Amino acid sequence: MMMRFDLHTHSSASDGSLAPNELVHRAAPGIQVLALTDHDTTAGIAEARAAAQQAGIHLIPGVEISTSWGGRTVHVLGLGIDPENPVLQAGLQRLRVARHRRAEAIGKQLAQNGIPDALAGAQALSQGQSLGRGHFARFLLQRGYGATMGEVFQRFLIRGRPGYVPGEWAQLGEAVAWIRAAGGQAVIAHPARYGFSSLKMLRLFEEFKALGGEGLEVLSGSCREDEAQRFAQQARKHGLLASCGSDYHGPEDPRRNLGKMPSLPAGCSPIWQHWPLAPK
Ligand code: AMP
Ligand code: MN
Ligand code: MN
Ligand code: MN
Repeated sequence: MMMRFDLHTHSSASDGSLAPNELVHRAAPGIQVLALTDHDTTAGIAEARAAAQQAGIHLIPGVEISTSWGGRTVHVLGLGIDPENPVLQAGLQRLRVARHRRAEAIGKQLAQNGIPDALAGAQALSQGQSLGRGHFARFLLQRGYGATMGEVFQRFLIRGRPGYVPGEWAQLGEAVAWIRAAGGQAVIAHPARYGFSSLKMLRLFEEFKALGGEGLEVLSGSCREDEAQRFAQQARKHGLLASCGSDYHGPEDPRRNLGKMPSLPAGCSPIWQHWPLAPK
């Protein structure tokens, strides 16, 4: 039987809304190979692993690392990492501290703009896990500052808006090094979302490859068919393996469905080509 893959998903260990075990049970049995890739944390993996074993699917331990490159935030997925690796954990810990500092600044800026208690609200929603803009967005939504997550992001949380504070993220080379130290494969997430020119994208791919990066997310939850074809070609050209993932954050977002993705375009070498996956 053909295996279905979803190699980019979030749980409540970061800004997803489902607990890791709920995510796994929702994914199975439609998906046979699921990666949990929370933002700058591996805290959900143990629970997801246990649930995957119960559900009879493969769980790929993963992470989505926030980096700064070319004046933008670029997300790098680590797939097949050892979550116990101390080099990786030290790096992720640093980013979570930076997330906390950024959250304090976001809270202050929102307060200056007439929205009190946002830090406490976001922290209550994150329940001590990797704190991010998604938690502020949910808080703002609950307080009636917009009708959808997209709207509160647009009004308050994106660059140029009152609640935007840039993150102190990892360098691209650091993220790749942490992932490799933990035995994983580094993959550039959702390349269509950075708004880079072709030339800048080319530079990113070349630098990433030279640093030891291995893959490109050719199919991502939100990307168009023509974009997927273009990224498939570029992956081939740069010797990058192709990955696919929905970037699922929970059932509230109708645009991103768990595992509902077309097959990789023809001619791609899948990132899982040498993974030891017994049929499930
Ligand atoms: P952070 O890593 O804390 O800066 O938050 C980034 C996350 O915010 C992304 O992974 C998405 O889940 C979410 N996000 C970013 N921009 C938007 C947007 N315009 N609409 C909805 N969610 C967004
Ligand atoms: Mn997210
Ligand atoms: Mn991302
Ligand atoms: Mn993601």
